[in-house]
Amino acid sequence: MRYDHSDNTQLSAHFNVQEFRCKCGREHDIFINPELIADLEKLYNSLNCSKIVVTSGYRCEAHDRSVGGTGKGQHTVGNAADICCYGRDGQPISSKKVCCNAQDIGFGGIANITDEYIYTHVDVRNEKKWYGDEVISNNDVTDDFHKYYGGNEMKGIDVSIHNGVIDWQSVKKDGIEFAVIRAGFGKFADQKDQNFESNYNGVKSAGISVGAYWYSYATTVSEAVQEANVFVSILAGKQFEFPVFFDIEEQAAFDTGKANCSAMVHAFCVVLEQSGYWAGLYTSRSALENYIEDDIKSRYALWIAEWGNRLNYSGPVGIWQYSEKGYVNGIIGNVDLDVAYRDYTSAVKENGLNGFGKTTQVQIEPYFTASPAEPTVTTADVTITIGNDTYKGTLMKE
Ligand SMILES: [Zn+2]
Ligand SMILES: [Zn+2]
Repeated sequence: MRYDHSDNTQLSAHFNVQEFRCKCGREHDIFINPELIADLEKLYNSLNCSKIVVTSGYRCEAHDRSVGGTGKGQHTVGNAADICCYGRDGQPISSKKVCCNAQDIGFGGIANITDEYIYTHVDVRNEKKWYGDEVISNNDVTDDFHKYYGGNEMKGIDVSIHNGVIDWQSVKKDGIEFAVIRAGFGKFADQKDQNFESNYNGVKSAGISVGAYWYSYATTVSEAVQEANVFVSILAGKQFEFPVFFDIEEQAAFDTGKANCSAMVHAFCVVLEQSGYWAGLYTSRSALENYIEDDIKSRYALWIAEWGNRLNYSGPVGIWQYSEKGYVNGIIGNVDLDVAYRDYTSAVKENGLNGFGKTTQVQIEPYFTASPAEPTVTTADVTITIGNDTYKGTLMKE
């Protein structure tokens, strides 16, 4: 398509003609291939961008030459864009990741541009593919960016007693980099996952990063707080490189409505945070959209389940559980597969969270102990802040 220099047509949700104007300084017409815009939109979505800045779109022959081109390249026919993609955190997304996603979308020409790895050339050429890395040369460098750049994402699994006894050394050798292990469920300490200790020890000795989750049966805020306290008591004395999650997926919980579900997540996570943990939320994508308020989604580490090839969620995500039917060496039967979009480890350690603190061990009130021989604590005073409101009350030991 040909556009006048002053044309400011909105081409798609995120791109305007103006962004593709030639930067030579002369006010001439420009060309933009609609396929380029369609594919840039796909890239925007697949990378979960907050914006894509086009640093060079259409180039006239003279300008293409002046920036080191041949005067006949893809930019001169409106097929190409040099871009910087920004994530939801406002930071540029690595060009290595952009190249991988651009390859998956089907761009014909793709190249990293600078050694900062934040600028990427993409084009919709029809001729032979060009997968380049201009830091190295202008030649083809690979037939597969995933292979060439390696993963920017971490491969993981989540397990419970239902996965049986796990050979964690084999799991590690199979390329698994993190595991989220179930610590238990419900509001009593004797509902600790019976393989929690062995899984934790196995994961640690294999050198796999580990997080934990608590399967909730809570339908009220006070039950969520009880569950959180049991969870904290079970986590005590251990170290977790990944966040610890509130797993909400019971229909009985969802039936209490969005406001209550959000309040339960918040109440649970506050207890974990007050005990020095990086707290998070695990649930399905659809439940997240139907039962969790926006401020809660963005407040805690987010681990979303959506089985399939694509996570259809357009907000910041920490971990995506994409399959319940994976196979990993060292585990008999199916296992849940996950991908982490960030390595939480360094942030956890830098902030002294999740048991990595140098100072005090958090003292937890033993609301629900398995052993009746211990000193009896029959009540507990609890204060929770939800939004602008503070709730105080006494919980009775059952
Ligand atoms: Zn020009
Ligand atoms: Zn370019």
